[in-house]
Amino acid sequence: ENEVKEEEVLLSEEDEEEALSARPVQIVVAHEDDHAFELDEAALERILLQEHVRDLNVVVVSVAGAFRKGKSFLLDFMLRFMYNQTSCSWLGGHEEPLTGFTWRGGCERETTGILAWSEVFVVDKPDGSKVAVLLIDTQGAFDSQSTIKDCATLFALSTMTSSVQLFTEYGRLALEEIYEKPFQTLMFLIRDWSYPYEHSYGLEGGKSFLEKRLQVKQNQHEELQNVRKHIHSCFSNIGCFLLPHPGLKVATNPNFDGRLTDIDDDFKTELVNLVPILLSPENLVEKEIGGSKVTCRDLVQYFKAYMKIYQG
Ligand code: GDP
Ligand code: MG
Repeated sequence: ENEVKEEEVLLSEEDEEEALSARPVQIVVAHEDDHAFELDEAALERILLQEHVRDLNVVVVSVAGAFRKGKSFLLDFMLRFMYNQTSCSWLGGHEEPLTGFTWRGGCERETTGILAWSEVFVVDKPDGSKVAVLLIDTQGAFDSQSTIKDCATLFALSTMTSSVQLFTEYGRLALEEIYEKPFQTLMFLIRDWSYPYEHSYGLEGGKSFLEKRLQVKQNQHEELQNVRKHIHSCFSNIGCFLLPHPGLKVATNPNFDGRLTDIDDDFKTELVNLVPILLSPENLVEKEIGGSKVTCRDLVQYFKAYMKIYQG
């Protein structure tokens, strides 16, 4: 009996070690001084060529946006969901600090580029297939120091953005060669939404808000009209989600460590709706390129190829 117990303990220690060693890994670095991008091929391969995932179709979920827009904050909740899929209390304990993609208060700059979570999650879809889920944090800069091209490159690489114009710029390049819509899903996430009486929080309100925003109007500047048309030609699904303000502690308290007690209830309610829309097994969208599904192994090659295109 004792022997069995010991084995159990050993196993769980191993699991714990693996969980502890999971971390964000920078796979693309943007050098601001010379506008150069660098792909850390070895780091990317360590993540995507792990034996248990390399031949599975990959789902790439990327949160993209400017600095200090709460990307890491959101990703940390996405991690909680991925690590506690089966539990209805995946949101976590009330006093539990958030960990994962480091996020912090203050306004010092972090590195522009792409971070990937080192652990690739294997998920069983309802149809019986297994997919590999890669979580990505894409940090662009929208200030004067960086050019539109730098930003478009990053977002092209990560396939997700919160910036309309930059994406469409990339889409224009890509669509010259590819006739399929190059991307699957684009979700605009609007933070600190404060007009729930006009458009309600969540997906429904987001939809009506987005429809209004993406309308092509006769009297609109031609360039704006084109941006709107391009978005539709690039993505198979376009959605929008309106999130309420998380509360003053989240936004302004430098000692806030992510614990749920400090976050407004409205926000938590919507978070519980949002994350499964993105990550629950039936909603996972496998990455496709040129109309074909892509494995983790393929994705490594695409990353390398895209880097070459955008460096040239
Ligand atoms: P990132 O740079 O995009 O990764 O942003 P972080 O996740 O590091 O968050 C930056 C700051 O914004 C932190 O102080 C968070 O507590 C705060 N924050 C996170 N989510 C929100 C939100 O929805 N609204 C507001 N106002 N602040 C947020
Ligand atoms: Mg961050």
